[in-house]
This record gives sequence, C-alpha cells and structure tokens, in this order.
Amino acid sequence: MSFTPPSQLTIDLDAIAANWRLLAARHVGQTAGVVKANAYGLGAAYVAPKLFAAGCRNFFTAHLSEALTIRPLVGDATVMVLHGMLPGEAVEFSQHGIIPVLSSLPEIALWAAEARRLGRKLPALLQADTGMSRLGLSQAETNILFNNRALLDGISITHVMTHLMNAEIPGHPSNAAQYQRIREFQARVPEAKLSLANSSGLFLEAKFASDLARPGAALYGVNPTPERPNPLNPVVQLHGRIIALRDIEPGTEVGYNGVWAARRPSRIATVAVGYADGYFRSLTNQAFGYFDGTPAPLVGRVSMDLTTFDVTGIANLNLGDSLELLGPHCTPDDLARAANTNGYEILTALGARYQRHYIGATPLK
Ligand SMILES: *Cc1c(COP(=O)(O)O)cnc(C)c1O
Repeated sequence: MSFTPPSQLTIDLDAIAANWRLLAARHVGQTAGVVKANAYGLGAAYVAPKLFAAGCRNFFTAHLSEALTIRPLVGDATVMVLHGMLPGEAVEFSQHGIIPVLSSLPEIALWAAEARRLGRKLPALLQADTGMSRLGLSQAETNILFNNRALLDGISITHVMTHLMNAEIPGHPSNAAQYQRIREFQARVPEAKLSLANSSGLFLEAKFASDLARPGAALYGVNPTPERPNPLNPVVQLHGRIIALRDIEPGTEVGYNGVWAARRPSRIATVAVGYADGYFRSLTNQAFGYFDGTPAPLVGRVSMDLTTFDVTGIANLNLGDSLELLGPHCTPDDLARAANTNGYEILTALGARYQRHYIGATPLK
C-alpha cells in the first residue's frame, strides 16, 4: 500500500512554456532557459524538456552535475554551465558537449589544455566582471588576457557575458555602467556575441536584451518588474492539508512559545506544512492561507512540520480539506514579502515532501 503526502504542489508546465514564449517575443535575439537549482526548485527533468518543446535551444545550469542531468533531455540544444569548471572537469565537459562559461584565467587554461589534448577547437562563453565582484574576469585579468591572446588558442568564444546587479530597478545607474563595460569588453572579442539580460533585464531598454537572454525567475512566474503588475503567468500552487481542527477558548496559546493567543473563541486548523518544507519560520504570524478565497491568518510559530491557521467563522471547512498557501490569492512574490525575502527563495526552498503534480508534462524519456 502506498500513501500520498498530505500537501500538494502543482506546477503548471504549460504556463512555464507560455512564459518562455512571452519572454522570447520581447526581443530579436535568442532566449535561453535558466534551469539551475533544479529549475528553481520546480523540477529540471520536467521543465527542461517542456522548454525544449516550446522552442528553447539554449539552457544554462549553475553546476556541471545539473548540466549532465538535463543533457539527455534536451535533444540538440546547447547546454551551458554558469559556474564554469574546476580542475579535472574539462574532460567531462568535452565528452558530453557541455559548454562552460569561463570566468578566470585558470579556467581558460583548463579549457585550452583540453582543446590541445583533443586537437580541436572548443566553444565557451567568456564572462567579465562588470560590477558584481562575484564571477568573471577582473580588469587586471582582462588586460593580461588581451595582451596575450595565445591564452585563448583552441577556444572559440561564442558569447561574452556579464550579469546585471540591479536589473529589476530600471534607471539604476549601475545598469548603464555595466552595459558600457561589457560593450568595451566585447569590442576586444569581435567574433563573439553578447549575453546580458536575466529576467528583469528583458524589461529594461531593448539593448539590454542582447543576443542571448538568460531568464530564469520569470519563467517560473516571479515578477521581473517589482514596481509594476506581473506580466507573466502564474506557475505554482501549494495546497496544505488540514490534519487537525480544534476549537479553543479566549486566552489559549497556539504553538511554540505561545507567540499568539486567541482573543475570542477560535477555530484553529493545523496544516501539514512547515519550515522543513520551505514554508519559512519567518512567516510566523505574517501570512494567510485561503479557503475558497477566504483568508485565514497564520497564527503562532511555523514549526518544522506544522503550521496553524485561524479559520474561525469559515463555513464548510472540514478535516482533510486544504488551504491554498501559494496560488491566485498568494503568489510567491506575496509570500516572499511576508517572509522578508524574494520570490526566488520561496521557489527554490519548496520542499521535497510535497506530492508534486505537473500540468502539461511532455512524455519523460
Ligand atoms: C541565475 C542567473 C540568471 C537568471 O536570473 P533570473 O533573475 O532568475 O532571470 C542569469 N544569469 C546568471 C549569471 C545567473 O546566475
């Protein structure tokens, strides 16, 4: 006999495909799909083939291991690794036809050595640090590289790339500054195209979209334009199952440390979702569950496996019913505001214990 987990996460792959098309239609260049971190927690093995079926031919992951997972699922598409390579990994890249983003001189040396070993040219993207001080060639490394071009022998640079640090804030001066720096860098590699925009970058001036945009979050329904209505389709719904219902007297405390107490006769629904499922403890006393659209305030501490909601006065609510924790009444961006984080963290934290239901799955290979 098998038991299904009580709470259900619904992931609408058709909406993800529609979001990709919507983003791709915003510019003339190509549009990749960023599927790092298991497609922002939603399941790369489902998302990547769906994007491929929608027409996406370029994929980015963060890690080599993630790229190896999706490689067999995306046909002849290009698979690129944002974090590039560590010593010993070059052969794994070349064998599986995975393209690294090279962000330092040591990585360039590893990939050039692999090209020498194989006796053929190997493709790569070349990342410049234009402001984030995280990954990418520094100004000093850039100077060394372009004063000694033999370092690039055997490597064909398909794109130069950089990452915007304030793309969601139109008009932020760093956007223009980073654009200027990457164009100067690109001028040193005339054969290379440009990869610049993330999700929010596609909503800046047209020039930021570049030859190869790299949206992630917007594919998954996170609003890339925080000051404006979300132009994307919603993707996730989370329904938390009520596994206990009780009526309590005024003054009764609920949950660890009694951080909430009833002020009136109250009905409390205990839902089988907690911080171990990525429903953050910082949501304590801050969020709502919804029953048929009626809000039920989250009361008391979110604990590891359980969260309590005040469902006083909600008619027709029974044991075994579910509360909407993410969905039309509470988007990942809404829950993020309540938890003092961003929609990205809400999605990537979604736990492994949910029953996952995919809408529009392409047949899995
Ligand atoms: C994660 C990431 C992206 C995707 O960013 P979103 O804001 O999710 O669209 C693009 N480029 C790089 C370098 C990244 O690390």
